[in-house]
Amino acid sequence: MGFGVLPDITNLILVHPYLGHIAGRTIPFALGSDFVDFPQILDHWTYHVWLLSHSLLFWAIVFAPLWRRSSGMKLATLAYLSHVLADLPSHTGAYGLEPFYPVHYIFDGWFDAWLWGPGPIAVSVVLTTVVFLLTRALRQRVLWPSERQDKTLNRA
Ligand SMILES: [Zn+2]
Repeated sequence: MGFGVLPDITNLILVHPYLGHIAGRTIPFALGSDFVDFPQILDHWTYHVWLLSHSLLFWAIVFAPLWRRSSGMKLATLAYLSHVLADLPSHTGAYGLEPFYPVHYIFDGWFDAWLWGPGPIAVSVVLTTVVFLLTRALRQRVLWPSERQDKTLNRA
């Protein structure tokens, strides 16, 4: 779970506080609309740290070698990649992800989930939970052929 949220830690501790400060928020933490109203954040170093933390090159060159010998490397990589893959379609325009940062290539996604308010976020959480519960219920009834063999072997 830590590696799944790791790319956005830089957003929480750097980008949002700085943008909240320049937006004049009482509590210096930016709202989604502040990114629209203050696009100068795109040139600030805090935003570039966020781009770096979402870079597949950064993961491959800096982070993965450090964790190479760890038994949790595959799971950490899966968690990190799932975060980046989820962010790719959910950031558009100038705020699109740069998956190969510092190589400048903006992937223009299809929607801006980071601008959603509480209502759409709640709907997405409920829908995700329903899909998870349906999948789990289905998985209790349907097994892959290899899983059936494993169950047969375990009973012996
Ligand atoms: Zn992210």
